[in-house]
Amino acid sequence: MSKQTLAFQAEVRQILHLVTHSLYSNKEIFLRELISNASDACDKLRFEALDNAALYEDAPNLEVRVTVDKAARTITIRDNGIGLSTEEAVANLGTIAKSGTREFMAALESDKKKDAQLIGQFGVGFYSGFIVADRITVESRRAGLKPEEGVRWSSDGTGEFEVEAITRPERGTDVILHLREGEDEYLAAWKIRSTVGKYSDHISLPVLMRKENWDAEKSEYIATDEWEPVNKAAALWTRPKADITVEQYHEFYKQIAYDSEPPLAYTHNRVEGRTEYTHGVKLYVKRVFIMDDAKDLMPAYLRWVKGVIDSADLPLNVSRELLQESRDVKAIREGCTKRVLSMLESMANSEDAAERDKYARFWKAFGTVMKEGIGEDHANRERLAGLCRFASTQADEGVSFADYVK
Ligand code: ADP
Repeated sequence: MSKQTLAFQAEVRQILHLVTHSLYSNKEIFLRELISNASDACDKLRFEALDNAALYEDAPNLEVRVTVDKAARTITIRDNGIGLSTEEAVANLGTIAKSGTREFMAALESDKKKDAQLIGQFGVGFYSGFIVADRITVESRRAGLKPEEGVRWSSDGTGEFEVEAITRPERGTDVILHLREGEDEYLAAWKIRSTVGKYSDHISLPVLMRKENWDAEKSEYIATDEWEPVNKAAALWTRPKADITVEQYHEFYKQIAYDSEPPLAYTHNRVEGRTEYTHGVKLYVKRVFIMDDAKDLMPAYLRWVKGVIDSADLPLNVSRELLQESRDVKAIREGCTKRVLSMLESMANSEDAAERDKYARFWKAFGTVMKEGIGEDHANRERLAGLCRFASTQADEGVSFADYVK
């Protein structure tokens, strides 16, 4: 295939214009987005390889490598995940499949502060690279394809992109950012290292960078050939609770919920033995990502909860149909529900006025949804009734049944 020049879909052009003209408040999020794409690509490989182990080729250790080239003024984010075929590069990097682009743009124009949140929520993560780069080159080969079936995609982020065939022995993707004038701060490896550490500590994949040595003569750090991890590379929920800071929980929540603010409250639950699982609503089995929005794991009236459930009991090839019938899933759902209700009860009945105030905020936002539970979840009716608050002339924040009777 010779070099082809193709035009971006109109929506992509609009997004690119916005990305490069209005996303200044939190520039460094491009690293979070690109590392999160790299991590997704590795999850996809792991998932496809469940049926076809040959996809691992001779590189079973999934990882992300970040390099900075001061002379070339580039940052490269390399993963050995699923990679892209030429067709996928054209489709996935040239068009936006998801609906809601218009809403994204309207939201962005009305609230510039929320840009970091919006960019993840609407799945335009890749394009965030153009915040700091005036050209992005992607070199990739899809797992399972021949080395000659690699692809190079390149664009300056205006109207068009180019694609051509390349030979690439290693599977996976390199995203090469050619930094804009004035973005030199990202050429400092320590800057990348600290940013990557901040955003990827809970990613279960090692993110590696070259070790640097101080060169006294040149008075600067020089990269060596040795690689070292910059993140903890253990899924946050698998680490001992005592080792996890509040900030790390907050950062984790922000990433999975696409929220720019910390959660109102959080809980981290570990059950030993059979039905071992940790909390939330994205489903992982033995740390392999299986599905988003796993409805059977939480009752509908708790659909506002964001999080992760990692179970060692479910089979890796679990389907949505299987989830509905599984006894393990029933146990997980019951356990999670109790956990959430306890968390809300301790907030609602706290001695601490600030906690009770949090509960009032929670009830204002989700009270209507919680009331569905009284009809839906017979087993927890009494507890749910205790959590209900009702409008009263005596209390602005609403009054509970118990207080009303008192
Ligand atoms: P999202 O990740 O939310 O789908 P992005 O704009 O970040 O949106 O990425 C668009 C698509 O490009 C992804 O869905 C994926 O198919 C593809 N992609 C991006 N980065 C990579 C990568 N490192 N490896 C493989 N595919 C990728």
